[in-house]
Amino acid sequence: MSALPQTPLAPLDRLGRPLRDLRLSVIEACNFRCGYCMPADKVPDDYGFDAAGRLSFDEIETLVRGATRLGMSKLRITGGEPLLRKGLPELIARLSRIDGIDDLAMTTNGSLLARHARALREAGLRRLTISLDALDPELFRELSGNRGDIDDVLAGIAAAESAGFESLKINCVVQRGVNDDEPIRLLEHFRGSGHVVRFIEYMDVGTCNGWQRDRVVPSTELRDRIHARWPLQTLDANYRGEVAERHAFVDGGGEVGFVSSVTAPFCGDCHRARVSADGTLYTCLFSAAGIALRPTLSLGESVFAEQLAGLWAKRADRYSELRGSTRASKRHVEMFLVGG
Ligand code: SAM
Ligand code: SF4
Ligand code: SF4
Repeated sequence: MSALPQTPLAPLDRLGRPLRDLRLSVIEACNFRCGYCMPADKVPDDYGFDAAGRLSFDEIETLVRGATRLGMSKLRITGGEPLLRKGLPELIARLSRIDGIDDLAMTTNGSLLARHARALREAGLRRLTISLDALDPELFRELSGNRGDIDDVLAGIAAAESAGFESLKINCVVQRGVNDDEPIRLLEHFRGSGHVVRFIEYMDVGTCNGWQRDRVVPSTELRDRIHARWPLQTLDANYRGEVAERHAFVDGGGEVGFVSSVTAPFCGDCHRARVSADGTLYTCLFSAAGIALRPTLSLGESVFAEQLAGLWAKRADRYSELRGSTRASKRHVEMFLVGG
């Protein structure tokens, strides 16, 4: 294990925000074709299975070690579908040994989790978020682009529980007229389980989902609907920059969260960078373009950390606050490249 540097470079970006949080995609391929992310009519079935373009585990380790020198301490593995990346537990084991990372998590569609949960846990993964937009089997299948089976995801959740993952996050993107009945159904299922269901506003990410604002269900509307059934009370954030607003069920049924990036942007507290599987840095989920990190990674952790510090210091992104204005970029990186 390498010791933490004596004098960490920890620049603030141009809006005064530190780098605390890294979302690292380990693969650009996915076994689903969710319409809001990777619609089947826009992204071919064989997309993203060319392993040569991806960062190696050595490069990823250098990248993560370098980023910790800037103060990054929260690392989330994502994709595409991260469980499609070969040897993932080995990578997790390497990352979990890095000093400075105090939160190592992964986001997955859960379809392959039953066979991987134990190995991931043993490798040092501590937190899991599972994306689940519907419990109704037919709707679930439709939303996955006719690829997924809800039973596989539920088996994945059960396997995660028995492997020792506690308090899973279950993320549901709610679209008006598509899955608006699912929030109540998900809460009926998960309330009292210790897992936290979080409802995410449908976002205008990428270029291929044909986003329409009237499909967004504002969190306030959803919260009122849930509150009418199971009264809620507001909870404080766990830490500054937490994206979900937390609420507790008054009857002790646990917690529910809302991520309101469309109706209540939180750019002012956005401490997050994203890196795609080919090693491109995006300083915003809505960036039009990224910066290739791979050439510097081969020069080692220190050189890379200096490059990253320079890039972070120039950051001024706040797309969600500008959404709809003429200053908001119209081109956006695809969600399946940066992983949410
Ligand atoms: N494949 C994994 C999964 O689905 O969990 C990880 C990558 S996926 C891109 C990460 C998250 O992005 C998922 O929870 C998904 O629901 C969310 N997402 C994708 N497109 C979205 C959109 N248009 N609006 C809001 N969330 C979106
Ligand atoms: Fe795949 Fe996740 Fe995108 Fe769905 S949201 S297509 S599971 S990457
Ligand atoms: Fe962060 Fe960009 Fe999202 Fe704002 S729009 S919260 S800057 S990722």
